[in-house]
Amino acid sequence: METLYPHNLDEAVAALGEAVTPLAGGTDLMVEVNFGHMRPERVLALRRVEELSEWHATRIGAGVTWRRIERDGPTALAQAARTVGSPQIRNAGTIGGNVATASPAGDGHPFLAAVDASIELRSVSGTRLLPWHEFFLGVKETARRHDELITAVVLPEDLPDRHEFAKVGVRNAMVISTTCCVVTRRPDGRTTVALGSVAPTPMRARRAEAMISAEARPSPAALDEFARLVSAEVQPITDHRSTEAYRRHASGVLARRLLERCLGRVAS
Ligand SMILES: Cc1cc2nc3c(=O)[nH]c(=O)nc-3n(C[C@H](O)[C@H](O)[C@H](O)COP(=O)(O)OP(=O)(O)OC[C@H]3O[C@@H](n4cnc5c(N)ncnc54)[C@H](O)[C@@H]3O)c2cc1C
Repeated sequence: METLYPHNLDEAVAALGEAVTPLAGGTDLMVEVNFGHMRPERVLALRRVEELSEWHATRIGAGVTWRRIERDGPTALAQAARTVGSPQIRNAGTIGGNVATASPAGDGHPFLAAVDASIELRSVSGTRLLPWHEFFLGVKETARRHDELITAVVLPEDLPDRHEFAKVGVRNAMVISTTCCVVTRRPDGRTTVALGSVAPTPMRARRAEAMISAEARPSPAALDEFARLVSAEVQPITDHRSTEAYRRHASGVLARRLLERCLGRVAS
């Protein structure tokens, strides 16, 4: 296995090719290598590429670690960051690696879906910005080409006033999500709800969003209906982590609880 050490973004992008595997924090990639699931021919080590760690307002460099996001990120993304692995994992793992892996359980993804973020990709021929729903194509499948590096995630300028993240897992720490969710709410009632671990890619519960956005001051009955719609809209599977039925139920409960937090009815 050969390792390449580019010193800047231009060198990194120029080194890309079909047999070249980018390496950021290594918290996903090295697990695959250690288990013998992958044997990359050439590894492109990104740690020295300082441009990737730049963070300007709504443009978060792909090399920004969960540790930094936990400290400086917008509320719901910081809440998600706090749940990623352990302090060691958060010091090494990056948001770019999280979106590139495209695991259905990626805890960073629901926030990106909830606020309609985009993924910035760069190759020698230029830069393109893909909306999240065009980037995530399936389980561990993205629209990134071999000749492209993920350079940043780009959030919209007008983030919703309230946004909250939570996840459900089999224990309280160091846990892969059984379901994870972000709810956002604006003062005019517009609400979004995005979920992870309940479909091949992050998803939005659009019917639930439309229903609750029309409610200026949602009643308990409206909150029940919101939770019911979220549970109906998710597309979970049964696997070694949970059952389809439990994921469906937990998604509705979680979304309702996060909406109540956004409405200020329960503490964050
Ligand atoms: C013990 C443990 C606990 C974990 N817990 C969680 C958790 O709770 N929640 C969660 O979401 N994840 C968790 N993870 C997974 C992992 O930590 C995250 O997905 C992390 O964000 C991956 O980032 P990384 O920088 O380490 O990526 P790497 O492992 O370096 O790379 C991952 C993939 O992304 C590609 N890649 C990396 N950077 C780029 C780039 N700039 N452009 C193009 N491709 C790139 C690599 O080629 C590789 O395919 C855990 C992992 C471990 C080992």
